[in-house]
Order: sequence, then structure tokens, then C-alpha cells
Amino acid sequence: MSLPPIDYERPKCLHDAFSLLEEMGIPMAGGTDVIIQLRESYLKGDFSPRLVVDLKDLDELSGIEDQGEHILIGAITRLSDLIENELLVHYAPSIAEAASRMGSIQIRNKGTIGGNICNAAPCADSIPPLLIHDAVLILASKGETREVDLENFLRGPGKTDRRKGEILIGVKVKKRDEGGEFFIKLARRDALNKARMNFAAWLNLRDGKISEARFAAGAIAPHPIRVREVEELLLGEEPSEALFIRAGRIVRDKMLEITGRRWSTPYKSPVVENLTARVLSEAARRAR
Ligand SMILES: Cc1cc2nc3c(=O)[nH]c(=O)nc-3n(C[C@H](O)[C@H](O)[C@H](O)COP(=O)(O)OP(=O)(O)OC[C@H]3O[C@@H](n4cnc5c(N)ncnc54)[C@H](O)[C@@H]3O)c2cc1C
Repeated sequence: MSLPPIDYERPKCLHDAFSLLEEMGIPMAGGTDVIIQLRESYLKGDFSPRLVVDLKDLDELSGIEDQGEHILIGAITRLSDLIENELLVHYAPSIAEAASRMGSIQIRNKGTIGGNICNAAPCADSIPPLLIHDAVLILASKGETREVDLENFLRGPGKTDRRKGEILIGVKVKKRDEGGEFFIKLARRDALNKARMNFAAWLNLRDGKISEARFAAGAIAPHPIRVREVEELLLGEEPSEALFIRAGRIVRDKMLEITGRRWSTPYKSPVVENLTARVLSEAARRAR
């Protein structure tokens, strides 16, 4: 079923984009989420004529830049451009790895990192790796630019702290030149790899013990989260299977605490435990 006519604008500069967004416009980058959502709202009968503001021509929102301690990824950088980027492969391989596992080639060639973040799906694959890199978002509107920790930006399924008229300009991620990291996802084959759960971990070792840790999980809560209880458990310990199994139980309990028991709990609980242990153990192996 096709959509009724929608107003569409493709501004050539940020200033024009801000003006258009001030008047009820919806930002669009690759459109791989937006178009589906517009169609769904039309089918549900709550579609009202909207203005779609296509950000594709805003070159300043695209590209990957070395900023010393950080890497700046432009919001409309395509997922396919993250996969083999040398900076990411070297300093943030879990982000490149997650991008390589998202959707199909066609989706990766259209979909963007900013779209994945702003869409704020509980299972968004780029978000756990961004969280373990202490990601900070740069958002701008007509008169203001602000920085927000990704962790504080996410509010719930499809909900963020993005203010009316704001555009995500880019995301700053901390370079990691020590330690090891890993991303893992569980996906249904027939759903073009959309994740049911995803996890990312970064561990650094000193004298054989874990000296720094980041652990983030998607789809165990209304939005992807860092699980600090796991990070605290790991600090100062020697990596071991027993330790990572304990971490898995903590993540399972966290999920139950947040979401309560559901029909899917008997299936999800052991998977959460196992995948947590697996992502941590691979991050530790890489750190060695
Ligand atoms: C078949 C299929 C498979 C998929 N597989 C996966 C998968 O494996 N893993 C996964 O995580 N996702 C998957 N997705 C979802 C989607 O492709 C990703 O979320 C993608 O990254 C969205 O990027 P986009 O540029 O297309 O976003 P858009 O659809 O353009 O936008 C998404 C949301 O972000 C907002 N937005 C976009 N850019 C900006 C900006 N710069 N500033 C402010 N707001 C902005 C839009 O208004 C909208 O609310 C899949 C989708 C499809 C259709």
C-alpha cells in the first residue's frame, strides 16, 4: 500500500534544515525506519500530512574524523561506511562489527548511524558498542548546540531527549588503544538480522586483572543500557569463566528487575546469561 502525498524538502544547508524542522518537519536520513513508521501510522489511521526533511545533502553531517582522544562520526554517515573505516577498526572495532551485522547490504547502504540512534529501538545494534565507548552526541537547533551523553539521551522505545527542531550532528566516541572489545547479537534469520538481544563489552587488563570495564546490553530494558553492576563486579578480578557466569546472572536479574516476568522470560533468561558470559570472555581474550 502506498502512502498519501507527503511534503518533502531536501535542504542544502543546516540553516535551512533548522527552519524547516521548526515547522513540524520530521528529519529523515536513510529513511529505512521513517518510511516504515509513516506507513504504519497511515495504516492505523493516525496519519496527518507531514513534512519530511531529507538531510542527505548536508555534507557536514557525514564522515569520520580523528579528533585526538575521540573519533567524531557524522550523523548521516552510512552504516556501510563504518565497517571498514580504519579509525573504527583500530580504535572502536565493536562499532564497525555491529554495523557489519545490521540488516542487508541495501539497508546498510541507506541506513545511517544517526538514524539508528534517534530511532531509539531497544534492540538498535549500534548503541551498545557506542555506550562502551562513552559516546557523546552533538545536537543542534537554530540558536543552540549542545552535547549529551548517549546514555542520558535514550528515554524508552522510540523516545529520546531530542528537542523539537533539533538535528543530531554527530557522535563522539572515545578511542580505545588498550584492552579488547567485542559485540555479539542474537537475531532471527527471517527478520534480516534485526536483533532480539545485543551486547558489547570492553575490558582492559593490568597485571592479569581487569583494570577497566564497560558492558552494555540492548533489548533487556526499554532502551539499551550500561550495566554498571557488572562493571563493578569485574574490576580488580582475574578474568575467568566463573566470574563471567556470575556477571551473566547479574544481567539476567537486572532484566527481570526492569521488565518483570513475561512470557518470554524462560527463553530470554538463559540466553542473556550465556551471551553475557560469551561477550565478556571474548573481550578478555582480545585484551590479552
Ligand atoms: C529490513 C530492515 C532490517 C533492519 N535491520 C536492522 C538491524 O539489523 N539492526 C538495527 O539496529 N536496525 C536495523 N534496521 C533499522 C534501520 O535500518 C536502522 O535503525 C538505521 O540505522 C536507521 O537509519 P536511517 O538513516 O535509515 O534512519 P531514518 O529512517 O532516516 O530515521 C530514523 C529516526 O531517526 C530520526 N533521524 C534520523 N537522522 C536524524 C538526525 N541526523 N537528527 C535527528 N533525527 C534524525 C528520524 O526522524 C527518525 O525518527 C532495519 C530496518 C529494516 C527495514
